[in-house]
Amino acid sequence: MNKKEILEKFSADPQRYYNVNLFEDQGFERKSCTTCNRFFWTLDSERVKCPDHSDDTYSFIGDPPTSKRFDYTQSWKEVESFFVKNNHTSINRYPVVCRWRDDLYFTIASIVDFQRVMGSKVVFEFPANPLVVPQTCLRFKDLENVGVTGRHFSSFCMIGQHSIPNDNGYWKDECVNLDFNLLTQQFGIAKKEITFVEDVWEGGGSFGSSLEYFVRGLELGNAVFTEFQGDLSDYKTLDQRIIDMGAGLERFAWITMGTPTAYDCCFGPITEKLIQQAGIDADSSVLVPYFTEIAKNLELYDDLSQVRKNAIKTTGLSDEQINRIITPLEGIYLIIDHIRTLIFAISDGALPSNVGGGYNLRIMLRRIISTMGRLKLKFDLDEIIDIQIDYLKNTYPELEKTREDVKEIISIETGRYDSSKQRMQKIVSKLNKEPKVEDLITLYESDGVTPEYLKEMKVISEIPSSFYSKLSDLHQSKKQKEQVNLPLEGVADTELLFYEDDPREFDAKVLKSFENFVVLDRTAFYARGGGQEPDHGKIAGQEIVDITKHGNIVVHEIKGNVPKEGDTVSCVVDAKRRDGITKNHTSTHIINTSARSVLGSWVWQHSAFKEEDHARLDITHHSALTDEDVKKIEDAANSIIEKSIPVKIENFDRGTAEQKYGFRIYQGGVVPVKSVRIVSIGDLDIEACGGTHVANTSDVEQIKITRTKRIQDGVVRIEFVSGDSAKEFVKKKQQDSEDKEKEGKLKEQEKEKRLEQRQIAKEKIPIIAKSLLECKQGTATIDEITIEIAESGKVNFCYSTSDNYDDVFHIGLGESLCKNDPKMVYCGLFEQGEKIRVIVYAGDDISKEKSAGDIVKSISQILGGAGGGSPKFAQGGGTDKSKKEDAIKNAKSMIIE
Ligand SMILES: [Zn+2]
Ligand SMILES: [Zn+2]
Repeated sequence: MNKKEILEKFSADPQRYYNVNLFEDQGFERKSCTTCNRFFWTLDSERVKCPDHSDDTYSFIGDPPTSKRFDYTQSWKEVESFFVKNNHTSINRYPVVCRWRDDLYFTIASIVDFQRVMGSKVVFEFPANPLVVPQTCLRFKDLENVGVTGRHFSSFCMIGQHSIPNDNGYWKDECVNLDFNLLTQQFGIAKKEITFVEDVWEGGGSFGSSLEYFVRGLELGNAVFTEFQGDLSDYKTLDQRIIDMGAGLERFAWITMGTPTAYDCCFGPITEKLIQQAGIDADSSVLVPYFTEIAKNLELYDDLSQVRKNAIKTTGLSDEQINRIITPLEGIYLIIDHIRTLIFAISDGALPSNVGGGYNLRIMLRRIISTMGRLKLKFDLDEIIDIQIDYLKNTYPELEKTREDVKEIISIETGRYDSSKQRMQKIVSKLNKEPKVEDLITLYESDGVTPEYLKEMKVISEIPSSFYSKLSDLHQSKKQKEQVNLPLEGVADTELLFYEDDPREFDAKVLKSFENFVVLDRTAFYARGGGQEPDHGKIAGQEIVDITKHGNIVVHEIKGNVPKEGDTVSCVVDAKRRDGITKNHTSTHIINTSARSVLGSWVWQHSAFKEEDHARLDITHHSALTDEDVKKIEDAANSIIEKSIPVKIENFDRGTAEQKYGFRIYQGGVVPVKSVRIVSIGDLDIEACGGTHVANTSDVEQIKITRTKRIQDGVVRIEFVSGDSAKEFVKKKQQDSEDKEKEGKLKEQEKEKRLEQRQIAKEKIPIIAKSLLECKQGTATIDEITIEIAESGKVNFCYSTSDNYDDVFHIGLGESLCKNDPKMVYCGLFEQGEKIRVIVYAGDDISKEKSAGDIVKSISQILGGAGGGSPKFAQGGGTDKSKKEDAIKNAKSMIIE
């Protein structure tokens, strides 16, 4: 649907869509802008143009229209007290990591807090009506504007004023009345200064008219009256109309302070401190005209560098002033803004990484570091975090709890970036032309090279304005869920016995059967879901292969014949399997909370898998786990088991559960139903979970972590076993180590024995040699060594095939014999492990005729191996031990012909 068309239609009937009581009561006039024709409402009879085109646009910079001065903290206090005074409930902000929506990584508007997706429909769930919330919102589309424009932030506080028109809540008239009074009474803005501009809002299949309110060209808020659903040509009024007024708290502060930029009054004392540290002369006579120009030009040009150039030209700032004042200030604003966003995101459990929403956080931190590098600013990030949290906790006291965690994550991530710089330098040095936007995206996506780094390295002079939005689009697309269509039309919901008395045997009626599938009226078989594997068992004697849930209908897939529709069948659940899976499921919760307490608040369940005899939990964590981490987590888990804590299961209305327990309950992801099942282990772990659980942690008996692995950037997998499987694992490990020990001992003994034998044999060499040399004719054998004196008198042959001797012995004896008898050939064969080795020595005289090398070659061949050496000494061998005698016979025939 075309927004312009809707606006035309609504503006054609202002009485119906825009004229509220306030306008009547106060005498507002409706006018059409003489530049752009848009309709607006004003009390100023002189005003002829809409806020975008008025002369007073941004004239509050240096000259605020109020006598009161409120910074960021005070502005919220004013807003809150005003709405509370007017019967609103003030509720705490929701996390910036949007755990309750699987189509969003981050909370982008206050209304998102109350939207829950059910199927394809968005429903609203308000914890109070009417209400007001200081919702921190993260938006990454305009990153290149941050620090430069004076009013763009990567995160900002949206004042959310929300109401459902009923006995408690209100509709348009009251909404606009309240907003007008907030500005005039609480903030002291003159009535004439306020302009309401007619607009429309559409999204998610619904739409409505809206009134944007401006003061001196600055849009402070937008009151949206969501009331229709469908298309312009065919729409109906929503059952539940919604007031969705969102206003920028930073702008409320800015309009009262009139500082050159919104950054100057919204970050607390840190801005001033960094400006001082950097030694910048922030002269307001330079800054006020410059940033006023920037603000005005922003509406006129799409390209930010053009806006900047124009502002410089109009204000006549010198290059020197730009380099000395403006550029470093922009850097400081960027750094503070980005750190503030990181504080919120990390506190709420997001980690910088290269996947999902984490990439935004990583790129922001890299922008911070590159900016400091480029401008040669040396700031202490820990100090910035401390001062910011000290300031922010006035509004958001919960940030105190994660102060150290934020510092830890930022320091780890900074270290990683520093260590990747060398690699980036190499990549950059190979670039031979100025990269285009597409190249920049590839450089970042595949090599982690940020455009800020390229700017720092002077490869590019400006970051193309489309870079961040293109990158953001790339990461925004989410995969579609696969839909299986089964013929389940008209089939009644299955009664889930596993949520009741959970019998192991039960009877049920077959409501539907087709192919291999059976639907029963009631079932105790747990269907695959939430990472828990399905039960096994039998339906009418037939084995179950798989069980899945489709809406509220459980579908059993079985092997063999399916029973007939209308039959009553007897069912048996595989109790042992269920028992194992159940223990593993409760263990998953135990390990999750243990990991969080050991590692840090950033640990969330990423995904989980529970089978009968093993399970795994993937958690969000910045690094691979050390052995020490693993031991600590395992110990913490087992101490939870030892404490015998009851595992409680209760059902709550979703909104109640969120308010009571917070968003930590969404460890397993979004819960698409109104009633949530809360599984709590004391107050240690409270999760929304549909799985089966033991009654008491002691039932798990034992948890053993079997393996951990970093499976992707920012995600670590913990594999574990529990109950009997854990006991078996421990037993087996113990057995293994005992066996190893035994084996080790035996080896040690053998080694010692061998050494002893060697020593003895070595000592025996001179004695044996002497005895052998005494033999002058025929054959003699001494200590398993045989000597044969050839009848020719030309050669003496000595050999041994005994395994009682090793290489050291043969070398020693052979050498000794041949030294004393130049006609001697010595041949030693011995087994060593899987091999049989041969060592041959030949005396000086005989070696000229009978080469040791030739003999070894021949013997080795017979043994199925190879060998060689010099005429006097050679060695070799083979593997065929059965040929030992053949080998020695062959040697003999070669030596004594
Ligand atoms: Zn206009
Ligand atoms: Zn669970």
